[in-house]
Amino acid sequence: MTLLAEQTTTAAADALGTADVAVIPTGSTEQHGPALPLGMDHMAAEAFARTATDRDDAVVLPTIPVGVSAHHRQFDGTLYVSADTFERYVEETLSSLAEHGVRKAVVVNGHGGNSGALRRAARTLRDERTAFAPPWNWWDSVDDLGADLFDEEGGHADAMESSLLWYLREDLVRPAALETAEAGASESWGESIHGAALGFDTIDFSESGAVGRPTQADPEKGERLFEAARDQLHALLDWLVERPLEDCWSRDHR
Ligand SMILES: [Zn+2]
Repeated sequence: MTLLAEQTTTAAADALGTADVAVIPTGSTEQHGPALPLGMDHMAAEAFARTATDRDDAVVLPTIPVGVSAHHRQFDGTLYVSADTFERYVEETLSSLAEHGVRKAVVVNGHGGNSGALRRAARTLRDERTAFAPPWNWWDSVDDLGADLFDEEGGHADAMESSLLWYLREDLVRPAALETAEAGASESWGESIHGAALGFDTIDFSESGAVGRPTQADPEKGERLFEAARDQLHALLDWLVERPLEDCWSRDHR
């Protein structure tokens, strides 16, 4: 099916009737250092989600472009909502979809800061037996490949993200600024003092807003990442389509 938002309500009735699973992209609009656009995370999520438009068994929902990004707020252009608002928004969106009969979904997520809220939303929907909607983080699905391709701990506007967007949207990456991004980057997420993680806001530990080694970015590596993660997403969708809904709920204690 094509994108839900491009259907008429008449056409949607048929399309939703045949869809076994929904795909909903979520991301952020937040600083990604001087080389990448603010929309990096939701653009990545949307690109993965749109590969599912080729499937007859899937419906692709509109992208949720603003997420849990308060920790980037000191950088120009960053938008954010609270974790509670984001959690409720995703939960209620999927709950409204369930009214049309689609009760299995994959939340294709492009922003790590959304993860906690997405896990909580998925738990509520599952506990209430409204929908089964596990979040899927593209970078987690290609962890090993990322480690092979790049020498970085990474985490934000790093070589992995820069490579992916360079492949997807060459027009939006500023390769000349990758040096500046890396010069002001931290190696990892904030300082840890005697076991206490002190990195509350990105500005506490990164001057450029990046975390990692963005100068290692390469669009060909981005293509490999994209294809590998896309394959993982489709394998997950295949698995979810096959899985009966009653097997998705938590089991009662016997
Ligand atoms: Zn990002």
